Amino acid sequence: AAKQSGKQQFTYFTRALDESAHRRLQITTELRRALDADDQLKVYFQPIVRLDDGGIRKAEALLRWHHPWLGEVEPSIFIPLAEEAGLIGAIGDWVLEQAVEHSRLWQSRNGTQIQISINQSPTQFAVRRARTDRVMEIVAKGHAAGNIAIEITEGVLLDDSPELKERLLHYRDAGIQVSIDDFGTGYSSMAYLKKFDIDYLKIDQSFVRDIHTNAVNRTIAETIIVMAHKLGMEVIAEGIETEEQRACLVAAGCDYGQGFLFAPPVPAHAFELLLQNAALPTAVPIPLRATKM
Ligand code: C2E
Ligand code: MG
Ligand code: MG
Ligand code: MG
Repeated sequence: AAKQSGKQQFTYFTRALDESAHRRLQITTELRRALDADDQLKVYFQPIVRLDDGGIRKAEALLRWHHPWLGEVEPSIFIPLAEEAGLIGAIGDWVLEQAVEHSRLWQSRNGTQIQISINQSPTQFAVRRARTDRVMEIVAKGHAAGNIAIEITEGVLLDDSPELKERLLHYRDAGIQVSIDDFGTGYSSMAYLKKFDIDYLKIDQSFVRDIHTNAVNRTIAETIIVMAHKLGMEVIAEGIETEEQRACLVAAGCDYGQGFLFAPPVPAHAFELLLQNAALPTAVPIPLRATKM
């Protein structure tokens, strides 16, 4: 009987595996199609505000995929599949093009310089040199230097190769800034901060979530902020959902914040409305009719 049930479990287990393998394949196939259908993938923008005056200064570009029968597929599911299938290069270029286009559009319509950051996953960042040139080409073609930042994770910077240093220097020369995403969750060696010229540290949401009740996480956040400032970097806190969290981060001297308290990621036209309502100190008022997309 034991053997019997073991066998059943095994059958059950392999079936579950088959199903997930099947699903992954299905999602990958549909993702390939989505790249050609131009209404499934969209880039949303989430405001990044200055914590001292609440003004929107930056935005993070976040991919959204609405599939006709799979529904909303989350980036945490399809980005890794896109990497495995070799689709991440094409997707990443498209996201960057969207970012470049919108930063220009918003600058010309609202007179507001909004820096847009795009995410580059480790494999995406590691792909051959040609990609770096492609990034610079897209940014140069869109005259977007100074308006684009690239978010990479700590793991990327463990690479000791001269190529990495060279690539980051190229970005710098092209006016592209660099942020470290999910800071504090990766490898704890911070030696790379001396080696590379990083512009922003993004404090991971796991430290922000209970910052007002958890003294350890508050200390970690405060320490990151002090260290970043001493090393000439600025700090963006991710995942701010409540007033208490915001107040703690303001008290700690954090420069920028991002999170549902301010706004979730929204489509481009909604972002533009946020910009117009945000009473930015630098915003130039424009006639309403000029705001139609
Ligand atoms: P990330 O870069 O750390 O992005 C921040 C995530 O936090 C986003 O999830 C955002 O929607 C979410 N978020 C923002 N504010 C709040 C908040 O107040 N509370 C909570 N709970 N969450 C908040 P999303 O859009 O699901 O993206 C997940 C991850 O997928 C991103 O993490 C990023 O690593 C990756 N990703 C998204 N778009 C792209 C892309 O275009 N390219 C690449 N390579 N990766 C992407
Ligand atoms: Mg990010
Ligand atoms: Mg993050
Ligand atoms: Mg710097």
